[in-house]
Amino acid sequence: MSRRTSRPRRPDTVTVRSPRTDPASPCPCGLPATYEECCGRFHAGSAAPTCEALMRSRYTAFVVRDAAYLLRTWHPGTRPPSVDFDPAMRWTGLEILDTTEGSAFHTTGTVTFRAHYTDDGRPDALHEKSRFVRHDGAWVYASAVFID
Ligand SMILES: [Zn+2]
Repeated sequence: MSRRTSRPRRPDTVTVRSPRTDPASPCPCGLPATYEECCGRFHAGSAAPTCEALMRSRYTAFVVRDAAYLLRTWHPGTRPPSVDFDPAMRWTGLEILDTTEGSAFHTTGTVTFRAHYTDDGRPDALHEKSRFVRHDGAWVYASAVFID
C-alpha cells in the first residue's frame, strides 16, 4: 500500500484547519443518521426541537469546530465572548445518560451526558449535566453542573 497519502503524525503541530465535515458521513453525535440529516441541519439554521437535539448538535459543533453555532445557541447571560478550540483535543463520542423535560412543551430542561475525547492522544471524558432554557422561543445552553 502506498504511503504517499498518509500524513505524518506530529502531535505537537498546531492544526488551524477545521476538521472536514462531509454532509453524507455519519453524524458525530452517534445517532444513526448522516451529518446533513442530523446535527448539520441545526448548524445550517433549523431550530433544535428538544434539549437533547440541541445538546447533540452542540457536541457535533465542537467536533466540526463551528464556533458561530456554539455562540448563537448559548444564553446571552452566560455566553463567553468567543470559543477557542484546543487543537490537542479530539472529540471521539457522545453518550446521552439522562434528560429531564426539554421537549416542545417545556421552557427548561437538562441533559446529562458523557463526552469522550483524547487530549494529546490520551483518552478522557467530560461528564456533565447541562441546563437549557428557551430564549426567544429557541432552546439555548444556559449552564453546566460538572459531575466529575
Ligand atoms: Zn447528530
